[in-house]
Amino acid sequence: MKTLETDVVVIGGGATGSGVLRDVALRGYRAILVERVDMGQGTTGRFHGLLHSGGRYVVTDPRSATECSHETAIITRIAADAVEQTGGLFVTTPADDPEYADKFHAACLAADVPVQEIAVGEALRREPRLNPAISRAFAVNDGSVDAWKLIWGNVHSAMECGAQVLTYHWVTQVLREDDRVCGVVCRDDAHGGEVRIEADFVINAGGVWAGHIADMAGCPDVQVVPGRGVMVAMNHRLVNTVVNRCDPPGDGDIIVPIHTVCVIGTTDTKVDSPDDLPIPRNEVQQMLDAGEVLVPGFRNSRALHAWAGARPLVKDARVAADDTRHMSRGMAAIDHRERDGVSGFLTITGGKATTFRLMAQVVVDQMCEQRGDTRPCRTADEVMPMAREGRTYTVGHRLADREQDRLDDPIICECELVTRSMIERHLTETPTASFDDIRRQKRLGMGPCQGGFCSLRATGIGHQIGALDAERASERLQTFLSNRWIGLHTILHGDQVHQTALDKWIFDGLLDVEHLPRTREGAA
Ligand SMILES: Cc1cc2nc3c(=O)[nH]c(=O)nc-3n(C[C@H](O)[C@H](O)[C@H](O)COP(=O)(O)OP(=O)(O)OC[C@H]3O[C@@H](n4cnc5c(N)ncnc54)[C@H](O)[C@@H]3O)c2cc1C
Repeated sequence: MKTLETDVVVIGGGATGSGVLRDVALRGYRAILVERVDMGQGTTGRFHGLLHSGGRYVVTDPRSATECSHETAIITRIAADAVEQTGGLFVTTPADDPEYADKFHAACLAADVPVQEIAVGEALRREPRLNPAISRAFAVNDGSVDAWKLIWGNVHSAMECGAQVLTYHWVTQVLREDDRVCGVVCRDDAHGGEVRIEADFVINAGGVWAGHIADMAGCPDVQVVPGRGVMVAMNHRLVNTVVNRCDPPGDGDIIVPIHTVCVIGTTDTKVDSPDDLPIPRNEVQQMLDAGEVLVPGFRNSRALHAWAGARPLVKDARVAADDTRHMSRGMAAIDHRERDGVSGFLTITGGKATTFRLMAQVVVDQMCEQRGDTRPCRTADEVMPMAREGRTYTVGHRLADREQDRLDDPIICECELVTRSMIERHLTETPTASFDDIRRQKRLGMGPCQGGFCSLRATGIGHQIGALDAERASERLQTFLSNRWIGLHTILHGDQVHQTALDKWIFDGLLDVEHLPRTREGAA
C-alpha cells in the first residue's frame, strides 16, 4: 500500500473541507485533502447558489444571520471571481403575512444585517417581472456564488502553500493509536489500490456524511440530519436580483439568478440517506407554483433541470427530529478530545456554504489550541489567486473574454461559452476526468440545451487529441447523458419536451449512442 505522511488530513472536498485546507495551509501546516468523488460533488455542488445577506434567517436564527452578513462581505472580497453582486430583495406578496415585514426589518437592524426599505415602484423598476401586487420591499446584500469556483479558489490558494488534493479517494478507515487518531486509509477509485496517509491531525469536514466518518474514528453519535431540498433551474434570468418572500422561511421562497439561468428553491424534508435523494414530481410542481407567486408567468418559461441536495443539519433538541425546516443553520465544531477522549480528531459540520470560511477558522483554531501553536488565521485577509484582479463576476464576462479569442479558439458550448482550449486543457491535465467533472469546473452542458450539442463535440475533441480512446470517449458521453437525464425526467412538459425530443433524436437517431462500444469497466 502506498503511504504518505503529512501534518493534517482534511476529509471532504466541499466548501467546508476546501476552506479548512486553505486555512491550515496558510498557517504553514502541510496538508492533504481527500474527497471520495470530485470536488464539490456533495452538498456544495447541489445547493441554491445564494450568498446569504443573512436576511433569510434573521428572525428565526439571528446568530446565523449575523455570521452570514459578515462572511458575505469577506467572501466578496477574497473570492470576487466566484461572486455576482446581484443584491437582494425581500418582498411582501399577497400570499405573505403583512405583519412579518416590520419584524423582519427590526430583526435585520438588531442582527447587523444591512437593510433598506424601498418604495414598491422602485422594486418594480429594478425587477420588472416581480409581482406588481407586492406591498413592501426591502433591499439587502444577497449575492449569488458559483460553488465550484469558490471551492477551486480555496484549493488553488492552498496549493500555492504546498497543500495537496486527492480526489476519488474514499476514506475507508480512520486510523487510531490508542486514544489518538493518526491518519486515514483511502481507496483510490481513480487508479485502483489503497493509500495510507499518516498525520498528526485529521479534520472531518464530511458535511452530511460527517457522522459516518466520526463513527469510523470510534466517536459515535455525531448526529447530522439530512434535509433534502429540491431546486429547479429555468432557461433564463427571470430576475437579475435575488428575490425572497418576506415571510418566515418556507418552500420555494427564493429565486437566485446564477450565470445564464435562475433557480427557484427549495423544499426541506428529512431523508434517511444523503446518497438517495429523489426528486418528486409534486415538489417540482410546487416550486413552479411558488415561482408564480414572486414572478407571475414564471411557468411560461422553460424549466431546464431539477436536482436535489441534502443539508447537513446538526440535530436540534428545540424541534421535532424530522422538522428539518426549523433546525438551526448554525455550525457544529466538535472537539473529540473533549467529547470522546480521542485526540487528533475534529469534526466541523452544519452551517451554510456562506459561512464555510468562518467554520474553517473555528475548527483550525481548535486544532492549533490542541497542538499548543499560536498561528493566526489569515483566510479573511489573503485574496484567492483567481480573485486578485478584484473584479466580481458579471454575466457579460464570459462573452467579453470570448470576444478576445474567438478567432483562434472555437466555442464548443454556446450556452456557457466554453471553448475548445478549455476542454483540451482539462482532458490533458486530468485524463481521468469525466464530462461531469468538466461540467462542474467549466459549466459544459449547464445552459439551456443541457449538453444537447456540446457533449458530443467534447467527446470528439477528447478522442481527437488522444486523451480518450474510442471506447472511453463513448463511455464518458453515455455517462454524462444518463446523469443529465436524472434532472430532466421530472420536468418534462411544455417546451422542455421539444428540447429533450430533439436531443434524443440526435443522440439515439443520428448517433445511436446507446449502442456505441464501451470499455469493459463501463459496460459492467
Ligand atoms: C437544497 C439546499 C440549498 C442550499 N442553499 C444554500 C444557499 O443558497 N446558500 C448557502 O450558503 N448554503 C446553502 N445550502 C447549505 C450548503 O449547501 C451546505 O451547508 C454546504 O454546502 C455544506 O458544505 P460541506 O463542505 O460541509 O459539505 P459537502 O459539500 O457535502 O462536502 C462534504 C464532502 O465530503 C465527502 N465525503 C463524504 N464521505 C467521505 C469519505 N468517506 N471519504 C472522502 N470524502 C467523503 C463528500 O463526497 C462531500 O463532497 C443549501 C443546502 C441545500 C441542501
